[in-house]
Amino acid sequence: MPDIIQLLPDAVANQIAAGEVIQRPASVVKELVENAIDAGATQITLNIKDAGRTLIQVSDNGCGMSETDARMAFERHATSKIRSANDLFCIRTMGFRGEALASIAAIADVELNTKQHEAEVGVFIHMVGSKVLKQEATQCANGTNFLVKNLFFNVPARRKFLKANSTELKHIINEVQRIALANPEIGLSLIHNQDPIYEMAVGDNIRKRIVSIFGKSINQNLVPVNTETSLVKIKGFIGQPKYARKTYGEQFFFVNNRFMKHPFFHRAIMQAYEKILAPDSYPSYFLYLDVDPECIDINIHPTKTEIKFENETAIWQIIQASVREALGKFNVMPSIDFDQAGSIEIPIAPKSREGIEMPKIQVDPTYNPFNVEVRNYPSGGGGSNSHSYSTSKHEQVQHWEKLYSDFTKSDEDEETQTEVMMQQEEEPANLSVNHDSFNTGRTCFQFKNKFILTPVKSGLMVIDQKRAHERILFENFMAMLAQQQIASQQLLFPHTFELEASDSELLRSVLTDLKALGFDVKEAEANHFVVNGIPGILENHSPLEIIESMLEDLKNTAVDMQEKAREQIAAALACASAIPYGHLLKVEELNQLIDQLFACTTPNFSPTGKQVLTIMPVEQFEKLLK
Ligand code: ADP
Ligand code: MG
Repeated sequence: MPDIIQLLPDAVANQIAAGEVIQRPASVVKELVENAIDAGATQITLNIKDAGRTLIQVSDNGCGMSETDARMAFERHATSKIRSANDLFCIRTMGFRGEALASIAAIADVELNTKQHEAEVGVFIHMVGSKVLKQEATQCANGTNFLVKNLFFNVPARRKFLKANSTELKHIINEVQRIALANPEIGLSLIHNQDPIYEMAVGDNIRKRIVSIFGKSINQNLVPVNTETSLVKIKGFIGQPKYARKTYGEQFFFVNNRFMKHPFFHRAIMQAYEKILAPDSYPSYFLYLDVDPECIDINIHPTKTEIKFENETAIWQIIQASVREALGKFNVMPSIDFDQAGSIEIPIAPKSREGIEMPKIQVDPTYNPFNVEVRNYPSGGGGSNSHSYSTSKHEQVQHWEKLYSDFTKSDEDEETQTEVMMQQEEEPANLSVNHDSFNTGRTCFQFKNKFILTPVKSGLMVIDQKRAHERILFENFMAMLAQQQIASQQLLFPHTFELEASDSELLRSVLTDLKALGFDVKEAEANHFVVNGIPGILENHSPLEIIESMLEDLKNTAVDMQEKAREQIAAALACASAIPYGHLLKVEELNQLIDQLFACTTPNFSPTGKQVLTIMPVEQFEKLLK
């Protein structure tokens, strides 16, 4: 038998390799623009015809190439960016595989004009299907200009599988957006069939760049994020919950100026928004991580955008904490102008973050919120039919006014919690909240013992009283949990239950946290647990149901158990103890509820993500009565 194995000719090998690297016109755009960035370009122009089928032209003002380099650049595994395997562990350039130009030249008609800044003349190379058709000295501008025509001319299968021009153009635009956001300081223009699509200026900052891509209206939606730890630096912007959209799209992660997809980190953000987003909506985010290149592995696949991190779990937590902090610090809430004399202003995101700290909440360590004897509801003042809490169940329902005075009774300055929070944010002029004027001159009334109605500048605000109270209590419970242990109430008849092995493992891992929250749960024998005590306020709830629903929630959260468990309990506590519908409220109580709601970090949504308030615009009333 004769030997049958042969080495593939370069052109064929390149064509096969091209299948990996160049999947559609957008891949060519990505590779060429990334090369321009690696070449130090500050201005890149992209000229596209027919969604890249006919022409992809990329010109840059980068360093250009020498005559020899220009020819070498088209060889497979030819790169100026790494020299040894060790360099793979500290990559700061976009490219490093040395495959892109070889691949593109294997499947298209490529013309290159390039000139180094100090050189007298440039070089022109024309390649078609890996063959050099022409190479000569030429007069051209400093930098590099690639013309890629007839993509996939010799790979009919590929060409046939290209999607409609609109789809291919969408892919190109996506690539351009990612690169433009990753490099806001670089000027970038995209022209399609002579029409300018983007014209992005040199020297943009991140905010300007986001605005030049997504339009002016996104500007007011952006909340800055800025965190520095030894492991990772995070900067960028997240979107306010109220602008969250029903579709994915404006969600971008960058690591060391490289776009990446990271479903795990994405979850960290989604969880930070969990209790404040309407269901099925997605917040925008533009987050830039900066890490030691040695701690990431980008060498997975030429077209893959997933990146592995060495300290994934820790970074997950830092991302989540940063997003939460940003949302809290910038007091993301609707800016509502109450329609009244000396109208108050609701805090909105300040322009500068200087001088703002997390609110410090005063807590009386001896105060036991579950001590139902001390609950004593003031009666009268709101009319004779004011509901009196006479049943034992109702005795647990906490009156927010009382609740808050208890919260702050050890506070020397006798500040209410609201004032403490407001004070933290006093700095910019738009944050002045006069707590006194808050209580005076506002018209509000209760409707159907369920809604609170109050006129605001733009119309009529409708607040769901129970959800509002849930939000208020939730934020207060979270604050209490952060500061002190919650008293446990021993059960007369301990509950025992059995869990399957994986659930048992999960429960074991949160037993200590549960204890701090007032749950007295022990493992009696393998996978059999006994509940001896629960937080007093959950007296009327099934301990088993609460634990099961909490475990279900925790299953989807591999990390940050403690925070998660706390939220779960705080939400459960808030829902259990909020004033019920059907309860008549006095005017002072209505005002108090509104005050306290807008002192919350996120008044728009209840702890379970339900909408707390809405505004009926004046125009709507006018239309109704036309
Ligand atoms: P890689 O980017 O992985 O190094 P490429 O095939 O994309 O591989 O490019 C090969 C080489 O050609 C690069 O390493 C670089 O030296 C050079 N090159 C490519 N594009 C440009 C450009 N626009 N300006 C200057 N040099 C370039
Ligand atoms: Mg490259």
